Amino acid sequence: MAVSDPYDVLGVPRDASADAIKQAYRRLARQHHPDANRGNPASEEKFKEINAAYEVLSDPEKRARFDRFGQAEPGTGGFNFGNMGGPGAGGAGGIEDLFEMFGFGGAGQTRQGPQRGDDLRADVVLDLDDVMTGTTRTLKVERTETCATCHGEGGEGKGSTETCRQCRGTGQVRQVHNSFLGQVVRTGPCPQCQGRGRVILRPCHTCHGRGAVRAVRDVGVRIPPGVEQGTRIRVQREGAAGVMGGPSGDLFVFVHVKEHPRFRREHADLLGTLKLGFAQASLGAEVEFQGLDGAVAVKVPPGTQPGDVLTLPERGLPRLGRQGRGALKVHVALDVPKKLSHEEQEVLRRWAELRGEPVASGGRGLFHRVRDALGS
Ligand SMILES: [Zn+2]
Ligand SMILES: [Zn+2]
Repeated sequence: MAVSDPYDVLGVPRDASADAIKQAYRRLARQHHPDANRGNPASEEKFKEINAAYEVLSDPEKRARFDRFGQAEPGTGGFNFGNMGGPGAGGAGGIEDLFEMFGFGGAGQTRQGPQRGDDLRADVVLDLDDVMTGTTRTLKVERTETCATCHGEGGEGKGSTETCRQCRGTGQVRQVHNSFLGQVVRTGPCPQCQGRGRVILRPCHTCHGRGAVRAVRDVGVRIPPGVEQGTRIRVQREGAAGVMGGPSGDLFVFVHVKEHPRFRREHADLLGTLKLGFAQASLGAEVEFQGLDGAVAVKVPPGTQPGDVLTLPERGLPRLGRQGRGALKVHVALDVPKKLSHEEQEVLRRWAELRGEPVASGGRGLFHRVRDALGS
């Protein structure tokens, strides 16, 4: 499920209190609850979206992480993309809360059958050199993995699990609930086996019967050339492990690009500054400019003005997933010397005279010359 802004979904301001969020959630959840909207898939989607949003905003840690969204944040985070299914979901608030609120004890139907694991988020911070060449990074990703000791069964050794007697292995039982809509008969997950269909007699010593463990893994990520701030790289099957044989989720790597001291960037174009002497700008020149990936010869036409932009095609950044590169665009700035030799002054004065430009007399001013003349 793609992430939409949870604040928008719940219709609350960014600084909403926990109470305000809860109230908004309850109101919307009532409105869009599947039991109140039978056969309305749009409402069901909305209901899921509301729950995903509440899952983020009801958890201070997840909410803080979302608020920082898009900012440079190295390392990894366990951002939950709103896959409500996994055993990692729920927790504080979320669907558990809702069922409690409607008087449905238990976690609903989401626990039955194989399920895909949660998608996870990680962040990488790159500089423009990495963007130019592409790079690989090894990220530490904390995630749920299938327990290697019991292969997710939860029991250890032969005969450590058996078919559930209450549901006869189906994982489902009929339950009668009293809800605000009246009596509802629904098939729900078996409370004995949590919908697994098997019960554990001898729990696995590694995972204590959960079938899953938390682990921190090094995940290698290839970052192609040309990525931008906010580019998302999907690493398939490196998210949280699936449940009951379901596939793993994906890892989404969010790219952040650091500012460069000499270059700005507009997509694939690189913007830099070229300092020219007055004579070079006036007469024209061919000068060397240090680009991001080496020296570039720049032709300066005669009469170039400060602020002019000289464009060098194909000397910018690579285009993500495409052939070719953007342009290097250099803004011309005038380099005005602060100190001049005697000879340089002479030449400039002569030049100013030819142009009829009045200039300061320089060196020792009128006051000093008068004082020298008086011999004091
Ligand atoms: Zn185990
Ligand atoms: Zn059962």
